[in-house]
Order: sequence, then C-alpha cells, then structure tokens
Amino acid sequence: MATHDAGRAGRRLLLAVCAVVVAVLLGAVGLVPGGASSADAATDAQLRAKQQQLKDALEQAQEGLADTGERAQQAAAELADVQSRQPAVQAALDTAQTAVRTAKDRDVELAGQLAAAEAAEQVAVGELAQGEADLAAAEKRVSRLVSATYRGGGIDTGLALAVVGGEGPSELADRLALVDTAARVQQASTARLAQTRAEQQHRADRLEAVRAQIAELRAQAAEQVVVTQRAEAEAQARKDELAALEATKAKALADVEAEKRAYEQQAAAAQAESDDIGAQLRARAKARGSKGGSGSGGSAAPQRGVLGNPLAAMTVTSGFGYRVHPVYHVRRLHAGTDLRAACGTPVYAAADGEVVRAGPGTGYGNILVIDHGTTGGRDVATAYAHLSRFAASPGQEVRKGQLVAYSGSTGVGTACHLHFEVRVDGSPTDAMAGWL
Ligand SMILES: [Zn+2]
Repeated sequence: MATHDAGRAGRRLLLAVCAVVVAVLLGAVGLVPGGASSADAATDAQLRAKQQQLKDALEQAQEGLADTGERAQQAAAELADVQSRQPAVQAALDTAQTAVRTAKDRDVELAGQLAAAEAAEQVAVGELAQGEADLAAAEKRVSRLVSATYRGGGIDTGLALAVVGGEGPSELADRLALVDTAARVQQASTARLAQTRAEQQHRADRLEAVRAQIAELRAQAAEQVVVTQRAEAEAQARKDELAALEATKAKALADVEAEKRAYEQQAAAAQAESDDIGAQLRARAKARGSKGGSGSGGSAAPQRGVLGNPLAAMTVTSGFGYRVHPVYHVRRLHAGTDLRAACGTPVYAAADGEVVRAGPGTGYGNILVIDHGTTGGRDVATAYAHLSRFAASPGQEVRKGQLVAYSGSTGVGTACHLHFEVRVDGSPTDAMAGWL
C-alpha cells in the first residue's frame, strides 16, 4: 500500500518535473531560430540534442496524459475491490461484536453465580459453627447423664441392694421405675447426639460442595476473561480492517476524481481547439458572403461525389459519434473518423480547396484543414489530424487527390492513424454517413 502510494506520488512528481522541463526547453528552443542562424556544427549538435531532449520530455508529458485513464482505471478497480470486500468485513465485525456482548453477558452471569455461591458459603460456615456448638452441648449432656446414672455403684448395684436389702415391694418398684426412666433418657440422648452428628456431617458436606462450586466458578470466570479479551481483540481487528478499507476507498475515489478533472481539462482543451477551427471556417464563409454558416453541420444531408478518400486504403478503426468514458462516465463526441494508417502514410486532399490551417495543435497534434468553399448551399471543409508532417501550407490552393500530408501519432493518442473530419458550416459531421 505504502509502496503503491509512493510510486503514484513519484509519478505525479515526475509529471510535474517534466512539465517544468518542457516549459524550460520550449523557451530555450524558441530562442534558437534568432540566435543560431549560422551553420555552426557545434551549435547544430547542441540544437539537435536540445530537440531530442524536448521530444523525450514531450513524450513523457504525453505519456502522463495518456496514462490518466490507466491510473483512473487502477483506482476504480481498487475501489470496486474495496466495495466487494466491505460487506464480508462488516459482517465479521458484527459477529465479533456479538461475541463480545455474549462474552460480557457471561462474565456478569458468572459474577452473579459466584456472589450467590459465596453468600451460601457464609451461611454454611455459620450453620456449621452453630452445629458444632450444639454438638458439644449434646455431648456434654450425655456424658453428665451417664456419670449421674452410675454415681454410687450404678444401676445393677442399686437393684441388688433393693432385692437383697429387704426393702419393701413399693420401694423396689420405685427404684426399678427410676432405673428404667434413666435408661430411656440415656438412650434418647444418645440417639439425639447421633442425629446431631449426622446433621453436622451433612452441613460440612454442603459447605464442601459450595466451596467446590466457588472454585469451579472462579476457574470459569478466569477462562471467560480470556474469551472476552479474545473477542474484543477480534472485534478491534475487524474494525481496523474496515477503517483501512474506508481509507483505501477514500483515496481511490480522490484519485479517480483527480484523474477525471485532468481528463475533463484535456477534453475541454480539445473542444476549444475544435471550436476554434469551426469559428475560423464560419468567419471565412461569412467573408465570402455564403448563406450557409448556420452551424447545423451535424444535420446536413451528405453530398455524394463532392469528397474523395483521404487515404489510398480506407479502413475505419473508430467511427464518428458519442463515447461514454468507462471510468469517468463523461459523454464526449468523437468528432471524426479514425482510419488505419501506418506512420508516414500519404494523406490526400478530399476535394479542391484552400489549406487554411497546417500546424501543431494540442489534442489534434499536427492538423491540416482544407476549406472546400460553398457547395450545394453548404460550406464544406475537411480536417486531417495527428499528422507526422505536412506537404502543403496555409494559403495554398490544393486539388482533389493531391498529397497534402503524412500520417503520424502527434497529439494525445498512442498509435499512428489518421483522424479525418468532415465539417459542414464549420461543425463536424459523420464522414461515413454518405460523404465518402
Ligand atoms: Zn479520432
């Protein structure tokens, strides 16, 4: 990403530098015709070197212009890529955020369970202590009872004395009843003691269980902390990814916008150039008192036989008509017919007329325009663009089929071809719609 940006910035810088170089060189070459009139060999070599530099710099600058579409397409592709990836990342972020919420809910749930278990532990500890006190009291009671029963010889000794000692039957009966009661009390006390011991054991078991539960909950809470942290990290990563995609998107959009502005400037310059030719032709028509010049060239009926082919071999590579730019979606008229022509192919005048323009343009490159005058009430002219060189000059009268120039690749464009325009009342019309 950084390398890509650096490369792009580098290219921009190179373009800016090239523009400066071109300006400087143009200035330098502009001075040459006046200052280097003598055929000095050293000066000639210098001039050629400077011209070569100029050519290279121009080519580079031109490359930059032609490259605008390519760079915009790159940016548009990047934009499309980002837009296609965004929903999946957004979905992943949503999932991660849901996981964070679930994890946090589980945190709270575990904390609640732990608090409840800890409260239960406190209760169990209290109950156990109370049970311990009860047990101690019960044991004490039983032991006191046992020692009281056996004090003074025990039950059997008392019974023997009663039988042997000649005591009366009522006394014996009393004594037996007493012994029986004591035995029952002792039995009951022992049973209660056993029950208290069992209850106490139960309480101890419960406390142990609640403590095990607490340990288990604490372990789960510790694990849950890790789960929550992992979910949060995942959510953050997806958030960062989404932000990076947004940044890339914004950058690509800005790139496309910048390239589009550059393209629109180029298109506007080309349109201005075309309008200038139209204005020149209309001014000439007006000067010769023509009734044409309404500017409705596009709708003019073609006149067969007026024009001849500008090339010996005619192959249309791109026709007249509107084009929509694939990236910028700008609609623009291709005002001529592109004909296949290797570099340096002879170009012929389409009809008799006067050369009114033969020189360098920007978008058109080297362009030659022939005014064929008024025919059938319409002012007809032809234009030939991207030429490598001229074989006729402005003001020259030419005949139909006369060699006037050679094809080339000057102006904005890449390969050699001939851009041929037919103009009626100054405005471009489709040459292939019956004119040729
Ligand atoms: Zn063209």
